[in-house]
Amino acid sequence: MQPHLTPRDIGWIEVVTGCMFSGKTEELIRRLRRAQYARQSVVVFKPGIDARYAEDSVGSHSGQRMRSFNIERASEIRELVGEAQVVGVDEAQFLDPELVPVCEELANEGRRVIVAGLDMDYLGQPFEPIPHLLAVAEYITKQLAICVVCGNPADRSQRLVDRGSRVLVGETEAYEARCRLHWDPHNFDHEQQTLSLGANLAEQSCNE
Ligand SMILES: [Zn+2]
Repeated sequence: MQPHLTPRDIGWIEVVTGCMFSGKTEELIRRLRRAQYARQSVVVFKPGIDARYAEDSVGSHSGQRMRSFNIERASEIRELVGEAQVVGVDEAQFLDPELVPVCEELANEGRRVIVAGLDMDYLGQPFEPIPHLLAVAEYITKQLAICVVCGNPADRSQRLVDRGSRVLVGETEAYEARCRLHWDPHNFDHEQQTLSLGANLAEQSCNE
């Protein structure tokens, strides 16, 4: 006899993507909070260097603890996910390609998987593994920021010129959201071109 399937038994993948300052993490947290209000078990993963298995909590203002793990490799999600019904992944562009089969496994097990991450790097190139996740996801949300030049919807991350400093100290100083018209990937110091967007953000998040 076939077991009776309820909608809760069916998992899926949601991807929240877009450029910097488009509110991806806010949207991820909003969805996870709603799941918590429904008393679903929630766990969040985010990339972090030298912080393997470090456990902290994200978005605990409501008083509800949301388990959060910093991981170096996507495969660690398998070990740490436990019985969570809803799995969130933030800054997913910094994780390895293994994230795609990991998310598929979790969804196949009946879990809701919500992934947030940049779709493009500062050169406008697709930022793996997000493009692969977009292909296999059931639900895709592409968020837009606001162009700091003209105020129109923006979908690009502009690396800024910072001629007075060799070190980029923070995300908000190093990047701006720009529309297609006002985005120019080559308009910054040549020296800074050797830094990838990922490397800079990883340094920045380490300092938080
Ligand atoms: Zn613009």
